[in-house]
Amino acid sequence: MSDRNFTTDDAGIPVTSDEHSLTVGPDGPILLHDAYLIEKMAAFNRERVPERQPHAKGGGAFGTFEVTHDVSAYTMAEVFQPGKKTEMLARFSTVAGERGSPDTWRDPRGFALKFYTGQGNFDLVGNNTPVFFVRDPMKFQDFIRSQKRRADNNLRDHDMQWDFWTLSPESAHQVTWLMGDRGIPRSWRHMNGYSSHTYLWYNASGEKYWVKYHFKTDQGIEYFTQDEGDQMASMDTDYHTRDLWEHIEGGDHPSWTLHMQIMPFQDAKTYRFNPFDLTKVWPHADYPLIEVGRMTLNRNPADYHTEIEQAAFAPSSAVPGTGPSPDKMLLGRWFSYPDAHRARIGVNYSELPVNTPRATTVRSYSKDGAMRHHNPGDPVYVPNSKGGPHADATSAGPVLGWHTDGEMVRTAYTLRSEDDDWGQAGTMVRDVLDDAARDRLVDNIVGHLLNGVSEPVLARAFDYWHNVDKDLGDRVAAGVAQKQGQSDPKAAEQSNKARSSARHKA
Ligand code: NDP
Repeated sequence: MSDRNFTTDDAGIPVTSDEHSLTVGPDGPILLHDAYLIEKMAAFNRERVPERQPHAKGGGAFGTFEVTHDVSAYTMAEVFQPGKKTEMLARFSTVAGERGSPDTWRDPRGFALKFYTGQGNFDLVGNNTPVFFVRDPMKFQDFIRSQKRRADNNLRDHDMQWDFWTLSPESAHQVTWLMGDRGIPRSWRHMNGYSSHTYLWYNASGEKYWVKYHFKTDQGIEYFTQDEGDQMASMDTDYHTRDLWEHIEGGDHPSWTLHMQIMPFQDAKTYRFNPFDLTKVWPHADYPLIEVGRMTLNRNPADYHTEIEQAAFAPSSAVPGTGPSPDKMLLGRWFSYPDAHRARIGVNYSELPVNTPRATTVRSYSKDGAMRHHNPGDPVYVPNSKGGPHADATSAGPVLGWHTDGEMVRTAYTLRSEDDDWGQAGTMVRDVLDDAARDRLVDNIVGHLLNGVSEPVLARAFDYWHNVDKDLGDRVAAGVAQKQGQSDPKAAEQSNKARSSARHKA
């Protein structure tokens, strides 16, 4: 074997030229049996895997999660045992934009984590917001479509976004959050990550708890105003990706401190609102944050495509000591995330180095399928008497969940005394934001509505904000009326005509 650095084709055969195709004479036609040329063209045509739908634009890095406080009373998961250090991967992203879209558009940010634990890979697929727009997976697809592009002209359309939001009042808490300062983080380093969902934890004695994860940034929360975000979007489309890369490359390693909210299992039955409703937070006063540990990102990917683009996160990768809750959105995602990876990357996505467990061995009976490069071999079935693996309940731990019994129905969650769509959004506006943050919230909403939202959606948007907070609603309506009055009537008329003709064609 030669160690000289010559080019080969994908079969390892030396090639004669990096520059010239095989032709009939120097000026003649190209020959079809130039296998190397064909291989180069064909490989290039297939370089892209389909982008994620949603969360297409993102970046990430590797690091370590270290447990600093003892929560073994609540979970037996190895990754959360005192003093444990676990290798991990984080990927941050926008939601609606495509792979080349600006990092600084107003949007929630994905906050996906993979911990390579000794009990198998443990994934958390959170966002930088503690809540979500909808609470039933039946509406998720429609929600995402409303945030992406129209069918006719392929344009994003605020009218479509507000049409969906105002017909889905459960979105109010998340839309309030989105229109506020945290809707455009200054960088990924300057935002928190939340599981948003409620999960199950259980300890070695089988005692169960409901939990929410809060990864609080140690860099502090910082944001861009709308103008700053817009300017950055035109100056540096990849600003957040670059920021993370450069800080890690320069040895400035960002970190987040993990805190948990922990609810005793029985509390959920009688809590004043449904604790599994993804559009609500648990007030800190009811369930204070309990510190657990710190995640630090310290290594950039060496190969973006294989380590970040093909990274596959799934909430169903839940290690013993953790599990799902009756949150309907979470249960929907339990299926849809691994299914998205099968569709986007291929059925054997978990064989790729970034997705495969690093601290434990895979001994499953999955076999074959496209791009499978390693099969477990015989026996290919279980039970068997041929030395193949057998399930071991003592390794897996107890099967813990919750009691459920009832008729099959298609209905909303059963309402409790404090279940409503507007209350927590109103609390944020009145009690969390200061005057200046409230002013920016009004400006952001008014600017967003003036960008193509027409009747009857506009009137519904005013009602929507009135329901969140009467004063906020009044200010939004007045702000829109005032700015509509200021705009050039001719330009407004032309833009309305263009929109209405686009809508008629739709
Ligand atoms: P707290 O006063 O204890 O918490 C308010 C929280 O609001 C803060 O801890 C901070 O969360 C977050 N916050 C501060 N500024 C902003 C902002 N500009 N945009 C978004 N969030 C911000 O009160 P409660 O726990 O009773 O919650 C009151 C309201 O605060 C909720 O209705 C909800 O809208 C919002 N909130 C609550 C969270 C929770 O888990 N309880 C988390 C985030 C928001 P953090 O410490 O996570 O940065």
